[in-house]
Amino acid sequence: MSKKLDFSLEFFPPATAEGVEKLRAVRSELAVLGPDFFSVTYGAGGSTRDRTLQVVREIREAGIEAAPHLSCIGATQQSIRDHLAEFRSMGVKRIVALRGDLPSGMADPGEFRYASELVGFIRQETGDEFFLEVASYPEVHPQARSYDADVRAFANKVQAGANSSITQYFYNADAYFSFVDAARKAGVTIPIVPGIMPIASFSKLARFSESCGAEIPQWMRRRFEGFGDDAEAIRAFGLDVVTRLCEQLISGGAPSLHFYTLNQAGMTRELVHRLGLAK
Ligand code: FAD
Repeated sequence: MSKKLDFSLEFFPPATAEGVEKLRAVRSELAVLGPDFFSVTYGAGGSTRDRTLQVVREIREAGIEAAPHLSCIGATQQSIRDHLAEFRSMGVKRIVALRGDLPSGMADPGEFRYASELVGFIRQETGDEFFLEVASYPEVHPQARSYDADVRAFANKVQAGANSSITQYFYNADAYFSFVDAARKAGVTIPIVPGIMPIASFSKLARFSESCGAEIPQWMRRRFEGFGDDAEAIRAFGLDVVTRLCEQLISGGAPSLHFYTLNQAGMTRELVHRLGLAK
C-alpha cells in the first residue's frame, strides 16, 4: 500500500482560559488522526509570546511535534536570540519563521526587515539545529512589488536557509501549480506545502481574505451568498469545495497539506477523513 500523504495542523494561542480548555479538547480530537506536526501562531510584535510557548509546551508534553511560529517585525537580534534559547530548552526542532506585520500603534520595525533576514540570522546563530519553515504566496503577497519580485523574495528565504514552505491559503489549484513552476524556475527545490483553509463561515472568510490577498473565486462567492444564513448548506458546500481542491492538489503532486484549523476540530477532521489521510 502506498504511504499516506503527511499533513500538519495549525492553531492560534487562545486569549482566554475557556479558549485554552477548548483547544486542549480540539487538540486531542485531532491528534488521533496522526498529523505530522502541530504549529502555533505568534501574535504580531510578540503580543502572544508566552501564550504561544505555553501551547507549544503542552503539545510537546502530549508527545506530538510542535512548531512555534516566530515573526521578526519589531524584534531585535537579542530578542530573537532569547527565543531561540527558549526553543532549545523546550526541545523544539521546527520553527515557522516569518516577518509578520507591524501592529497598529507600534512604530519601531526593529532590527529585521524581511523574513529572509530572520532565516539567515537563525542559521548564523544556530547552524542546522532547527528545521525552518517559511511562508509563500501562490496568489502573491499583498505588499509585493510584482509577482516575479515575490517569487524572488521567496527564493531569497530559501537561499538564506529555509527547509520547507507553507503557503497562504487559496481556492484556485492553478494558482498553486503555477507558483510552484515559477519557484522551481527560480531555483527553489524545497517542498511547497499548500495551506488549506476550511470554510466554516463565508462572511468571516470574505473579510479575512481581503486583508491577506487570498482570492475567493466569483462562482464560489455567488454560491455562498445564495445560501444566505443557511449554516448547514454553507458547511456542506464549503466541505465539498475544499475536498475537491485538496484532491486536485494531491493528484498534482502536493508534498503534504497544512490545515488552518482556526482551533476547531470538525471541518478539519472531516476533510482529513474524506481525503483518506488519517493514519
Ligand atoms: P517576507 O517573506 O519578508 O515578505 C514580506 C513582503 O516583503 C512580501 O511582499 C515580499 O515580496 C517582500 N520582500 C521580501 N524580501 C524583500 C526584499 N529584499 N526587497 C523588497 N521586498 C521584499 N503572521 C503573524 O503575525 N503570525 C503568524 O504566526 C503567522 N503565521 C503565518 C503562517 C503562514 C503559513 C503564512 C502564509 C502567513 C503567516 N503569517 C503570520 C502572516 C505573515 O506574517 C504576513 O503575510 C506578513 O505580511 C509577511 O510575512 P512573510 O514572512 O511572508 O514576509
